[in-house]
Amino acid sequence: MSKGESNVLASMSAPACAWRMCCGLCGDTHLTPVLELVPTPPANAFVAERALDEVQACFPLELVLCESCRHVQLAHILDRYAMVGDAVDADTEWPEHQAHNLAWARELMERCCAPEQSLVIDIGCNDGSLLALFEDAGWRVQGVEPSVNVAGTAIGRGIDTYPGFFQPSIAARLEDERGPARLVIAHDLMSQTDDPSGFFEGVRMLLRPDGLFSFEVPSLHALVADAGVDMITHATLDYHSVAPLMRALNQNGLELITVTRTRLHGGRLRGMARPMGGLAPVEASVAALLADERRLGLAEADTYRKLASRLAAIRNQLAVYLDSAKTAGLRIAAYGAQAGATTLLYQLGLDADVITFIADASPLHTGGYTPGLHIPVVAAAELEARRPDVVVVLAWQDAQAIAAQHPDFEAAGGRFLSPLPVPTLCA
Ligand SMILES: [Zn+2]
Repeated sequence: MSKGESNVLASMSAPACAWRMCCGLCGDTHLTPVLELVPTPPANAFVAERALDEVQACFPLELVLCESCRHVQLAHILDRYAMVGDAVDADTEWPEHQAHNLAWARELMERCCAPEQSLVIDIGCNDGSLLALFEDAGWRVQGVEPSVNVAGTAIGRGIDTYPGFFQPSIAARLEDERGPARLVIAHDLMSQTDDPSGFFEGVRMLLRPDGLFSFEVPSLHALVADAGVDMITHATLDYHSVAPLMRALNQNGLELITVTRTRLHGGRLRGMARPMGGLAPVEASVAALLADERRLGLAEADTYRKLASRLAAIRNQLAVYLDSAKTAGLRIAAYGAQAGATTLLYQLGLDADVITFIADASPLHTGGYTPGLHIPVVAAAELEARRPDVVVVLAWQDAQAIAAQHPDFEAAGGRFLSPLPVPTLCA
Protein backbone atom coordinates (compact mmCIF):
# COMPACT_ATOMS: atom_id res chain seq x y z
CA MET A 1 0.00 0.00 0.00
CA SER A 2 1.46 3.35 -0.93
CA LYS A 3 1.21 6.59 1.00
CA GLY A 4 -2.11 8.42 0.68
CA GLU A 5 -4.16 5.41 -0.48
CA SER A 6 -5.94 4.79 2.81
CA ASN A 7 -6.87 6.31 6.14
CA VAL A 8 -8.38 9.37 4.48
CA LEU A 9 -9.61 11.38 7.45
CA ALA A 10 -11.43 14.21 5.82
CA SER A 11 -12.39 13.15 2.34
CA MET A 12 -15.44 15.41 2.39
CA SER A 13 -13.27 18.48 2.87
CA ALA A 14 -10.61 20.02 0.69
CA PRO A 15 -7.66 19.61 0.98
CA ALA A 16 -7.69 15.84 1.50
CA CYS A 17 -5.85 14.58 4.58
CA ALA A 18 -4.21 11.18 4.82
CA TRP A 19 -2.28 9.29 7.52
CA ARG A 20 1.38 8.79 6.65
CA MET A 21 2.03 5.12 5.98
CA CYS A 22 5.84 5.13 6.13
CA CYS A 23 8.90 7.27 6.89
CA GLY A 24 9.56 9.84 4.17
CA LEU A 25 13.32 9.33 4.42
CA CYS A 26 13.83 5.57 4.81
CA GLY A 27 10.44 3.98 4.02
CA ASP A 28 10.15 2.12 7.35
CA THR A 29 6.56 1.67 8.53
CA HIS A 30 7.30 1.76 12.28
CA LEU A 31 6.34 5.31 13.19
CA THR A 32 5.86 6.28 16.85
CA PRO A 33 3.57 9.26 17.65
CA VAL A 34 5.62 11.63 19.83
CA LEU A 35 3.90 15.06 19.82
CA GLU A 36 0.18 15.68 19.30
CA LEU A 37 -0.68 19.35 18.86
CA VAL A 38 -4.10 21.05 18.73
CA PRO A 39 -5.50 20.56 15.18
CA THR A 40 -5.49 23.69 12.99
CA PRO A 41 -6.63 24.77 9.51
CA PRO A 42 -3.83 25.13 6.91
CA ALA A 43 -1.65 27.90 8.37
CA ASN A 44 -1.88 30.20 5.35
CA ALA A 45 -5.66 29.90 4.85
CA PHE A 46 -6.39 33.53 5.82
CA VAL A 47 -9.94 34.59 4.93
CA ALA A 48 -11.66 37.73 3.66
CA GLU A 49 -14.49 39.36 5.61
CA ARG A 50 -17.12 38.09 3.16
CA ALA A 51 -16.09 34.46 3.96
CA LEU A 52 -16.25 34.75 7.76
CA ASP A 53 -19.47 32.70 7.95
CA GLU A 54 -17.75 29.68 6.43
CA VAL A 55 -16.38 27.23 9.00
CA GLN A 56 -12.80 26.23 8.19
CA ALA A 57 -11.92 22.58 8.77
CA CYS A 58 -9.11 21.80 11.23
CA PHE A 59 -6.70 18.97 10.45
CA PRO A 60 -4.51 16.91 12.82
CA LEU A 61 -1.08 18.33 13.56
CA GLU A 62 1.02 15.54 15.01
CA LEU A 63 4.66 14.47 14.81
CA VAL A 64 5.87 10.88 14.52
CA LEU A 65 9.38 9.48 15.02
CA CYS A 66 10.72 6.78 12.67
CA GLU A 67 11.89 3.79 14.70
CA SER A 68 14.49 2.96 12.05
CA CYS A 69 16.26 6.20 11.04
CA ARG A 70 14.87 8.46 13.88
CA HIS A 71 13.53 11.07 11.42
CA VAL A 72 10.74 13.32 12.80
CA GLN A 73 7.88 14.11 10.44
CA LEU A 74 4.19 15.03 10.24
CA ALA A 75 1.83 12.12 10.82
CA HIS A 76 -0.82 13.50 8.46
CA ILE A 77 -0.29 14.76 4.94
CA LEU A 78 -2.62 17.29 3.33
CA ASP A 79 -2.95 17.27 -0.43
CA ARG A 80 0.18 19.14 -1.56
CA TYR A 81 -1.40 20.52 -4.70
CA ALA A 82 -4.11 22.22 -2.67
CA MET A 83 -1.47 23.50 -0.22
CA VAL A 84 0.71 25.10 -2.88
CA GLY A 85 -2.16 26.40 -5.02
CA ASP A 86 -1.40 29.30 -7.27
CA ALA A 87 -0.68 31.90 -4.64
CA VAL A 88 2.14 34.29 -5.42
CA ASP A 89 4.86 33.84 -2.80
CA ALA A 90 5.76 37.18 -1.31
CA ASP A 91 8.89 35.75 0.35
CA THR A 92 11.26 37.29 -2.12
CA GLU A 93 10.00 40.80 -1.35
CA TRP A 94 11.30 40.66 2.22
CA PRO A 95 14.58 42.56 2.60
CA GLU A 96 15.80 39.78 4.92
CA HIS A 97 15.18 37.23 2.18
CA GLN A 98 16.88 39.31 -0.50
CA ALA A 99 19.99 39.78 1.65
CA HIS A 100 19.97 36.05 2.42
CA ASN A 101 19.76 35.21 -1.30
CA LEU A 102 22.61 37.52 -2.26
CA ALA A 103 24.97 36.30 0.47
CA TRP A 104 24.15 32.68 -0.27
CA ALA A 105 24.60 33.04 -4.06
CA ARG A 106 28.04 34.58 -3.52
CA GLU A 107 29.06 31.85 -1.10
CA LEU A 108 27.92 29.11 -3.48
CA MET A 109 29.70 30.63 -6.47
CA GLU A 110 32.93 30.93 -4.50
CA ARG A 111 32.71 27.35 -3.30
CA CYS A 112 31.97 25.95 -6.78
CA CYS A 113 34.76 27.86 -8.57
CA ALA A 114 32.91 26.84 -11.74
CA PRO A 115 33.81 27.95 -15.28
CA GLU A 116 31.46 30.23 -17.23
CA GLN A 117 28.31 28.61 -18.62
CA SER A 118 28.20 25.98 -15.86
CA LEU A 119 24.63 24.85 -15.14
CA VAL A 120 22.81 25.65 -11.88
CA ILE A 121 19.33 24.23 -11.15
CA ASP A 122 17.16 25.77 -8.42
CA ILE A 123 14.36 23.45 -7.26
CA GLY A 124 11.59 25.58 -5.78
CA CYS A 125 13.01 28.59 -7.56
CA ASN A 126 10.11 30.87 -6.60
CA ASP A 127 10.17 33.97 -8.85
CA GLY A 128 13.70 33.18 -10.06
CA SER A 129 15.40 35.92 -8.05
CA LEU A 130 18.22 33.63 -6.82
CA LEU A 131 18.85 32.23 -10.32
CA ALA A 132 18.95 35.76 -11.76
CA LEU A 133 22.03 36.42 -9.59
CA PHE A 134 23.75 33.35 -11.09
CA GLU A 135 22.74 34.34 -14.62
CA ASP A 136 24.29 37.78 -14.10
CA ALA A 137 27.53 36.00 -13.12
CA GLY A 138 27.65 33.96 -16.36
CA TRP A 139 25.97 30.71 -15.31
CA ARG A 140 23.35 28.80 -17.33
CA VAL A 141 20.23 28.58 -15.16
CA GLN A 142 17.22 26.29 -14.84
CA GLY A 143 14.33 26.62 -12.40
CA VAL A 144 11.72 24.15 -11.13
CA GLU A 145 8.68 25.61 -9.37
CA PRO A 146 5.47 23.82 -8.25
CA SER A 147 3.19 26.87 -8.28
CA VAL A 148 2.17 27.63 -11.88
CA ASN A 149 1.59 31.31 -11.14
CA VAL A 150 4.97 31.78 -9.49
CA ALA A 151 6.73 29.78 -12.23
CA GLY A 152 5.11 32.21 -14.69
CA THR A 153 6.75 35.11 -12.83
CA ALA A 154 10.17 33.42 -13.17
CA ILE A 155 9.60 32.70 -16.86
CA GLY A 156 8.49 36.32 -17.32
CA ARG A 157 11.90 37.52 -16.13
CA GLY A 158 13.63 35.21 -18.62
CA ILE A 159 14.43 32.27 -16.31
CA ASP A 160 13.86 28.87 -17.96
CA THR A 161 11.48 27.25 -15.44
CA TYR A 162 9.71 23.89 -15.30
CA PRO A 163 6.27 24.36 -13.65
CA GLY A 164 5.67 21.29 -11.47
CA PHE A 165 6.81 19.21 -8.49
CA PHE A 166 10.35 17.85 -8.69
CA GLN A 167 10.71 14.07 -8.91
CA PRO A 168 13.11 11.60 -10.55
CA SER A 169 11.21 11.62 -13.88
CA ILE A 170 11.58 15.42 -14.06
CA ALA A 171 15.28 15.10 -13.17
CA ALA A 172 15.80 12.64 -16.05
CA ARG A 173 14.11 15.01 -18.48
CA LEU A 174 16.10 18.05 -17.31
CA GLU A 175 19.40 16.13 -17.42
CA ASP A 176 18.58 15.07 -20.97
CA GLU A 177 17.67 18.60 -22.10
CA ARG A 178 20.21 20.72 -20.19
CA GLY A 179 23.03 18.31 -19.31
CA PRO A 180 24.41 17.53 -15.81
CA ALA A 181 24.58 20.39 -13.31
CA ARG A 182 27.53 21.80 -11.41
CA LEU A 183 25.18 22.99 -8.71
CA VAL A 184 21.68 21.96 -7.60
CA ILE A 185 19.92 24.18 -5.05
CA ALA A 186 16.83 23.38 -2.97
CA HIS A 187 16.29 25.89 -0.21
CA ASP A 188 12.71 25.17 0.73
CA LEU A 189 10.92 22.57 -1.31
CA MET A 190 12.42 19.51 0.37
CA SER A 191 10.12 20.11 3.34
CA GLN A 192 7.09 20.21 1.05
CA THR A 193 7.63 16.96 -0.80
CA ASP A 194 6.12 13.74 0.57
CA ASP A 195 9.01 11.75 -0.92
CA PRO A 196 12.35 13.26 0.25
CA SER A 197 14.18 10.08 -0.71
CA GLY A 198 12.91 10.34 -4.30
CA PHE A 199 13.91 14.00 -4.19
CA PHE A 200 17.53 13.05 -3.34
CA GLU A 201 17.50 10.39 -6.06
CA GLY A 202 16.48 13.06 -8.59
CA VAL A 203 19.19 15.44 -7.37
CA ARG A 204 21.86 12.73 -7.74
CA MET A 205 20.72 12.10 -11.32
CA LEU A 206 21.22 15.79 -12.14
CA LEU A 207 24.70 16.26 -10.65
CA ARG A 208 28.06 16.03 -12.39
CA PRO A 209 30.64 13.87 -10.51
CA ASP A 210 32.21 17.14 -9.24
CA GLY A 211 28.82 18.76 -8.63
CA LEU A 212 27.40 20.11 -5.37
CA PHE A 213 23.92 19.99 -3.86
CA SER A 214 23.04 22.92 -1.60
CA PHE A 215 19.93 22.76 0.56
CA GLU A 216 18.07 24.28 3.48
CA VAL A 217 15.52 22.34 5.52
CA PRO A 218 13.52 23.05 8.71
CA SER A 219 15.68 22.22 11.71
CA LEU A 220 14.38 19.97 14.46
CA HIS A 221 16.92 21.59 16.77
CA ALA A 222 14.94 24.86 16.88
CA LEU A 223 11.78 23.00 17.90
CA VAL A 224 13.40 21.18 20.81
CA ALA A 225 15.82 23.87 22.02
CA ASP A 226 13.33 26.78 22.02
CA ALA A 227 9.93 25.02 22.09
CA GLY A 228 9.55 26.64 18.65
CA VAL A 229 6.29 24.87 17.92
CA ASP A 230 5.22 27.56 15.45
CA MET A 231 7.56 25.98 12.89
CA ILE A 232 5.09 23.08 12.64
CA THR A 233 2.48 23.62 9.92
CA HIS A 234 0.77 21.29 7.44
CA ALA A 235 2.96 22.72 4.67
CA THR A 236 6.15 21.43 6.34
CA LEU A 237 6.19 17.65 6.36
CA ASP A 238 9.73 17.05 7.66
CA TYR A 239 11.70 18.39 10.66
CA HIS A 240 15.27 17.45 10.02
CA SER A 241 18.20 16.44 12.15
CA VAL A 242 21.61 15.62 10.72
CA ALA A 243 21.83 11.88 11.46
CA PRO A 244 18.69 10.72 9.53
CA LEU A 245 19.42 13.22 6.77
CA MET A 246 22.96 11.85 6.29
CA ARG A 247 21.64 8.32 6.07
CA ALA A 248 19.02 9.24 3.41
CA LEU A 249 21.61 11.16 1.38
CA ASN A 250 23.98 8.17 1.51
CA GLN A 251 21.27 5.77 0.39
CA ASN A 252 20.80 7.93 -2.71
CA GLY A 253 24.49 8.24 -3.62
CA LEU A 254 25.14 11.58 -1.90
CA GLU A 255 27.43 12.52 0.99
CA LEU A 256 26.94 15.43 3.39
CA ILE A 257 30.12 17.52 3.50
CA THR A 258 29.09 20.57 5.54
CA VAL A 259 26.11 21.68 7.65
CA THR A 260 25.22 24.74 9.75
CA ARG A 261 22.18 26.12 11.55
CA THR A 262 20.51 29.39 10.53
CA ARG A 263 17.75 31.41 12.20
CA LEU A 264 15.83 32.04 8.97
CA HIS A 265 12.12 31.05 9.02
CA GLY A 266 12.22 29.77 12.59
CA GLY A 267 15.42 27.74 12.26
CA ARG A 268 16.96 25.84 9.38
CA LEU A 269 19.72 23.39 8.65
CA ARG A 270 21.79 24.60 5.72
CA GLY A 271 23.90 21.86 4.20
CA MET A 272 25.90 20.84 1.20
CA ALA A 273 26.36 17.37 -0.26
CA ARG A 274 28.30 15.92 -3.19
CA PRO A 275 28.11 12.63 -5.10
CA MET A 276 29.70 9.69 -3.22
CA GLY A 277 33.38 9.36 -4.03
CA GLY A 278 33.82 13.07 -4.76
CA LEU A 279 36.97 14.91 -3.74
CA ALA A 280 35.51 17.64 -1.50
CA PRO A 281 36.35 16.70 2.13
CA VAL A 282 33.74 16.15 4.86
CA GLU A 283 34.09 19.15 7.17
CA ALA A 284 34.19 19.17 10.99
CA SER A 285 30.76 20.84 11.19
CA VAL A 286 29.07 17.51 10.40
CA ALA A 287 30.54 15.69 13.43
CA ALA A 288 29.97 18.75 15.65
CA LEU A 289 26.25 18.94 14.90
CA LEU A 290 25.85 15.17 15.24
CA ALA A 291 27.35 15.39 18.74
CA ASP A 292 25.07 18.29 19.66
CA GLU A 293 22.00 16.34 18.47
CA ARG A 294 22.96 13.42 20.70
CA ARG A 295 23.31 15.82 23.63
CA LEU A 296 19.81 17.22 22.99
CA GLY A 297 18.29 13.75 22.55
CA LEU A 298 16.72 14.52 19.16
CA ALA A 299 16.51 10.78 18.37
CA GLU A 300 14.64 9.93 21.61
CA ALA A 301 10.84 9.81 21.90
CA ASP A 302 11.08 10.99 25.50
CA THR A 303 12.49 14.35 24.33
CA TYR A 304 9.18 15.15 22.60
CA ARG A 305 7.07 14.02 25.56
CA LYS A 306 9.03 16.49 27.69
CA LEU A 307 8.46 19.14 25.01
CA ALA A 308 4.69 18.52 25.26
CA SER A 309 4.86 19.11 29.03
CA ARG A 310 6.89 22.25 28.46
CA LEU A 311 4.30 23.57 25.97
CA ALA A 312 1.49 22.90 28.44
CA ALA A 313 3.37 24.86 31.10
CA ILE A 314 3.93 27.78 28.68
CA ARG A 315 0.23 27.78 27.78
CA ASN A 316 -0.80 27.84 31.45
CA GLN A 317 1.67 30.57 32.38
CA LEU A 318 0.47 32.73 29.50
CA ALA A 319 -3.20 32.12 30.35
CA VAL A 320 -2.67 33.19 33.98
CA TYR A 321 -0.99 36.44 32.88
CA LEU A 322 -3.49 37.29 30.13
CA ASP A 323 -6.54 36.38 32.27
CA SER A 324 -5.42 38.74 34.98
CA ALA A 325 -4.66 41.44 32.38
CA LYS A 326 -8.16 41.04 30.95
CA THR A 327 -9.76 41.10 34.39
CA ALA A 328 -7.90 44.34 35.05
CA GLY A 329 -9.51 45.80 31.90
CA LEU A 330 -6.35 45.78 29.79
CA ARG A 331 -6.69 45.39 26.00
CA ILE A 332 -4.69 42.56 24.44
CA ALA A 333 -3.52 42.32 20.82
CA ALA A 334 -0.82 40.37 18.96
CA TYR A 335 1.93 41.04 16.45
CA GLY A 336 2.94 38.89 13.44
CA ALA A 337 0.63 37.13 10.94
CA GLN A 338 3.19 34.79 9.40
CA ALA A 339 2.12 31.17 8.73
CA GLY A 340 3.47 29.89 12.05
CA ALA A 341 1.20 32.34 13.91
CA THR A 342 -1.77 30.07 13.18
CA THR A 343 -0.05 27.14 14.91
CA LEU A 344 0.97 29.30 17.85
CA LEU A 345 -2.51 30.80 18.36
CA TYR A 346 -4.08 27.35 18.52
CA GLN A 347 -1.42 25.77 20.74
CA LEU A 348 -1.44 28.65 23.22
CA GLY A 349 -5.24 28.96 23.36
CA LEU A 350 -5.23 32.51 21.98
CA ASP A 351 -8.57 33.09 20.23
CA ALA A 352 -10.59 36.17 19.27
CA ASP A 353 -11.91 36.43 22.86
CA VAL A 354 -8.35 37.07 24.04
CA ILE A 355 -6.65 38.72 21.04
CA THR A 356 -8.66 41.64 19.60
CA PHE A 357 -6.46 42.08 16.50
CA ILE A 358 -3.07 41.16 15.04
CA ALA A 359 -0.75 43.84 13.69
CA ASP A 360 1.61 42.86 10.87
CA ALA A 361 4.29 44.71 8.91
CA SER A 362 3.60 42.79 5.67
CA PRO A 363 0.61 43.85 3.53
CA LEU A 364 0.04 40.18 2.56
CA HIS A 365 -2.77 39.48 5.08
CA THR A 366 -3.75 43.00 6.12
CA GLY A 367 -7.53 43.40 5.99
CA GLY A 368 -8.04 39.65 6.28
CA TYR A 369 -8.72 37.28 9.18
CA THR A 370 -6.60 34.46 10.61
CA PRO A 371 -7.37 30.86 9.58
CA GLY A 372 -10.11 29.27 11.71
CA LEU A 373 -9.99 31.70 14.63
CA HIS A 374 -10.86 34.71 12.44
CA ILE A 375 -8.84 37.32 14.33
CA PRO A 376 -8.58 40.51 12.20
CA VAL A 377 -5.14 41.41 10.79
CA VAL A 378 -4.27 45.11 10.54
CA ALA A 379 -1.24 47.14 9.42
CA ALA A 380 1.58 47.54 11.95
CA ALA A 381 0.97 51.29 12.02
CA GLU A 382 -2.42 50.60 13.65
CA LEU A 383 -0.63 49.60 16.83
CA GLU A 384 -0.03 53.20 17.86
CA ALA A 385 -3.55 54.25 16.74
CA ARG A 386 -5.44 51.46 18.53
CA ARG A 387 -3.21 51.50 21.62
CA PRO A 388 -3.71 48.03 23.15
CA ASP A 389 -2.04 47.55 26.56
CA VAL A 390 -0.36 44.18 25.94
CA VAL A 391 0.89 42.81 22.59
CA VAL A 392 1.71 39.09 22.36
CA VAL A 393 4.51 38.82 19.77
CA LEU A 394 3.69 35.78 17.62
CA ALA A 395 6.87 36.48 15.61
CA TRP A 396 8.59 35.76 18.93
CA GLN A 397 12.11 35.26 17.54
CA ASP A 398 12.08 38.93 16.53
CA ALA A 399 10.33 40.20 19.66
CA GLN A 400 13.14 42.51 20.79
CA ALA A 401 13.55 43.98 17.28
CA ILE A 402 9.79 44.53 16.95
CA ALA A 403 9.68 46.26 20.35
CA ALA A 404 12.56 48.48 19.24
CA GLN A 405 10.60 49.47 16.11
CA HIS A 406 7.71 50.80 18.23
CA PRO A 407 9.29 53.04 20.89
CA ASP A 408 6.22 55.35 20.99
CA PHE A 409 3.97 52.43 21.84
CA GLU A 410 6.15 51.40 24.75
CA ALA A 411 6.67 55.00 25.86
CA ALA A 412 2.87 55.31 26.13
CA GLY A 413 2.80 52.33 28.51
CA GLY A 414 2.23 49.45 26.05
CA ARG A 415 4.06 46.16 26.70
CA PHE A 416 5.34 43.55 24.25
CA LEU A 417 5.21 39.96 25.47
CA SER A 418 7.20 37.14 23.86
CA PRO A 419 5.39 33.79 24.44
CA LEU A 420 8.43 31.58 23.66
CA PRO A 421 10.76 30.03 24.72
CA VAL A 422 9.08 31.12 28.01
CA PRO A 423 6.52 33.93 28.35
CA THR A 424 8.57 37.09 28.94
CA LEU A 425 7.84 40.80 28.83
CA CYS A 426 10.29 42.56 26.49
CA ALA A 427 12.64 44.86 28.36
ZN1 LIG B 1 13.02 6.51 8.70
